[in-house]
Amino acid sequence: MNTIERLNNELEYDTKSLTSLFADLHIHIGSAKGKAVKITASRQLQLRTIIYHDAPRKGLDMVGIVDSGSTLVSAEIEEMLADGDLVELEKGGFIARNGVLLISACEVESREGVHIISYLPTMQRIRDWQAYIKSRVHNTRLSTQKVDASILDLIMLSSQLDGIFCFAHAFTPHKGVYGMWTDKLASKLGEDIRHIKVLELGLSADTDMADMLEETRGCTFLSNSDAHSSPNVGREYNLLRMGEKNFQELRLCLANKNGRRVLANYGMHPSLGKYHRSFCPGCDKIITDEPPISLCPLCGNSKIVMGVFDRIVVIRDYDSPRHPNERPPYYYRIPLKDLPGIGPKTYNKLLGVFPNEIELIEKILLEDISMVAGGTIAATIRDMRLGRLGISAGGGGKYGKVKKDSSNQ
Ligand SMILES: [Zn+2]
Ligand SMILES: [Zn+2]
Repeated sequence: MNTIERLNNELEYDTKSLTSLFADLHIHIGSAKGKAVKITASRQLQLRTIIYHDAPRKGLDMVGIVDSGSTLVSAEIEEMLADGDLVELEKGGFIARNGVLLISACEVESREGVHIISYLPTMQRIRDWQAYIKSRVHNTRLSTQKVDASILDLIMLSSQLDGIFCFAHAFTPHKGVYGMWTDKLASKLGEDIRHIKVLELGLSADTDMADMLEETRGCTFLSNSDAHSSPNVGREYNLLRMGEKNFQELRLCLANKNGRRVLANYGMHPSLGKYHRSFCPGCDKIITDEPPISLCPLCGNSKIVMGVFDRIVVIRDYDSPRHPNERPPYYYRIPLKDLPGIGPKTYNKLLGVFPNEIELIEKILLEDISMVAGGTIAATIRDMRLGRLGISAGGGGKYGKVKKDSSNQ
């Protein structure tokens, strides 16, 4: 498309009424209809509480529930539709009474062992997805089931169902497409790589790391929480520029069309992620030597858990990040509860005064924070905003940590 064509195309859409929305598009469900959905998640993590409690407390306008394909969760969505707690929108997606937009999605494990997400627009499309999956999984109630279908089958299914396909936590050694399946998607998918438009970075990677690859330059990056419990909802999020809240607008936004786009990604510093560096299970140690590490320098063990950073150094095309022009900025953020000095008491005090956590992280004046929670807390939040907190790296399934003495007042 040339510039004139693109301008004409954009004029067909109203770009004046665009707004900015905060979205976390990867949240699990611990239980629905009183039964377990994601075994490793907290049972308290439930659809209603995510929409009516967690999202507003965090400051999210939009939540993507990746267990919507579970028969228990879809039954709850239908129940909420019947009760008027959710309304299905003509242009896709479900709007709640409090204005939060629910985007239904299914995370599954492909035959190759890779986690993928398909965002689906309507209840009917969830049912269609379930009809396909039904005979290909062991248990239709549970989250992230292994499906007897290839990555390509799932890409095609997603496209037939008007879904948006996304590789989940693409770089993690645990089920990420680049982490455990391939160095080059093009070598596996060939021409079909053109269907890949959206990639989730995962907690252990950021835009600087992902933009060392060449073949993903045209992809939109998402930074989502992959929350398994309420407090982790929104630990990573995206700022999206789009029109009305609905699925069709999300599709345009992730495709970077008609003035819609991802304005910014907000996530944990990659070294806080639990797979950032390689880890030796023999020595029980995270390896901090120059990457890439594929042998433990202490014991020579070759059966290490490859870190996301080490993996990217192996597969990268460029030695330093090369950002395409349209790549949005990536801001390092840490949930308030994980900041040194903020316990439950201080957290509740802050949330009692200010509207939500994202406002506190992004906008509230430091003087105002200081009046409520004191100067030390305000200084810590300032240092987070400036990306100045000290961090020790995670690896092998252990999260990294914010250093206690890292805030310089
Ligand atoms: Zn996953
Ligand atoms: Zn997940």
